[in-house]
Amino acid sequence: MKLAFFDTKPYDRPSFDKYCKEKGIDIKYFETKLNADTAELAHGYDAVCVFVNDTVSAEVIDKLAELGVKVLALRCAGFNNVDMKHAFGRLHVLRVPAYSPYAVAEHTMALLLTSVRRIHKAYIRSKDFNFSLANFTGFDLHGKTVGVIGTGRIGRVFADICRGFGMKVLAYDKYPADADGVEYTDLDTLLAKSDIISLHCPLTDDTYHLLDAAAFEKCKKGVVLLNTSRGALVDAEALLAAIKSRKVGAACLDVYEEESDLFFEDNSGHIMEDDVLARLISMPNVIVTSHQAFLTEEALENIAETTVNNIDNFFKNGRCENELCYRGGEARDCKDGKCF
Ligand code: NAD
Repeated sequence: MKLAFFDTKPYDRPSFDKYCKEKGIDIKYFETKLNADTAELAHGYDAVCVFVNDTVSAEVIDKLAELGVKVLALRCAGFNNVDMKHAFGRLHVLRVPAYSPYAVAEHTMALLLTSVRRIHKAYIRSKDFNFSLANFTGFDLHGKTVGVIGTGRIGRVFADICRGFGMKVLAYDKYPADADGVEYTDLDTLLAKSDIISLHCPLTDDTYHLLDAAAFEKCKKGVVLLNTSRGALVDAEALLAAIKSRKVGAACLDVYEEESDLFFEDNSGHIMEDDVLARLISMPNVIVTSHQAFLTEEALENIAETTVNNIDNFFKNGRCENELCYRGGEARDCKDGKCF
């Protein structure tokens, strides 16, 4: 079994080396992202492994299938970068549905606390022996209302963390589930009543620009927005306008719609071409992290173990419980473990 691994970062290697060795998988690491220009590198490989910012378009899928690649192994949960409709019948798509919801939920809370207690500013000030408290007044989370959009694995853990802080949790989900201490409501009510809004739903046709200018209009003045899910859930230009008009009081973004050519890379010393991102980052009440919410030791171990097991199961047994399937016109987990 030969595996081509795209968009490799140094932190990927130790755990993938370990699990591939255990299963006898021959892994080749490529630093480049997978896209139409680089797909040719998969020549001679049985499977390719990709992450959130690789481009798995119809063109790439056709190329991979033509090269004899059988499996696309996502080392992440989200699959919005894969043309799932086109993959059906051509490429088996395996994913890691859960690796550590705690990693992402805890990072979301870290961002919220950093923002409302100005820790990012205090850190820089005290490094310069500036111990002034000017403009550092925050607010208590206790007693505030948080609106959680998407109450799956991560959203539920985040809701639990918020309840631990004594916050009231409102939730909106297309498919509401039983969740302790969470009050489900419609999206408009959540927007109108929440002091803090946190996004934990997937990016789909339904959720593209879920938070746009009209949605921000419905929010409380001064609302704090948290997005550790996917960038395109938020219309970034509308967010910028809402920050300028003081409707949005603060924004913490671990993801950004146009992140794919920027995030995970050192762009210091380059001219920032993306004016919206540059303006957002320049705001005193915006914190941007570089899609790092997943990045814990536990998550990296679990990602590697599940990804390698997925590939191993597929090639040994012809099926994998973590295969995604487009049968029925919508991409979802494949119940019988074999999509086609
Ligand atoms: P999940 O599948 O367990 O939960 C997603 C929830 O969203 C489900 O309850 C689902 O019913 C709900 N949902 C689906 N469509 C919706 C809609 N139109 N409106 C409202 N809710 C809807 O997923 P998860 O593991 O909790 O992950 C959530 C998201 O977090 C992923 O889709 C991914 O984009 C993102 N993520 C980000 C990072 C990071 O490092 N920043 C890491 C992992 C996951």
